[in-house]
Amino acid sequence: MNFLNWRTDKQLLEIINNESLDYDIRIKAQEERMRRRWPSCKIPGCKTFAQHTWATIPVCQHCKETLTTEQLDYYAEKLLPEDRTLIYSIAPYMPWRHQDLVVNP
Ligand SMILES: [Zn+2]
Repeated sequence: MNFLNWRTDKQLLEIINNESLDYDIRIKAQEERMRRRWPSCKIPGCKTFAQHTWATIPVCQHCKETLTTEQLDYYAEKLLPEDRTLIYSIAPYMPWRHQDLVVNP
């Protein structure tokens, strides 16, 4: 159970800035603040905070770069449509639901 999730944002900041407190508790307070501000990355298996989006879907910096590489490879015809695995993995979250991108609708 997370004892920090009922704290206000101001209380979390006080914990983070209180140097007399244990380092681990201050880190956990910082993580709680980030969890409130950013959702987690929607790429399966990635739990990083999503500070970016790809086709309106929250993704982390690393996954966004990987998605960009995948897209560029696809448009450069280095990848076949069925090999765009990363974009398929987030297709179910897309508001317009590209049926050709949804592997298991
Ligand atoms: Zn990610």
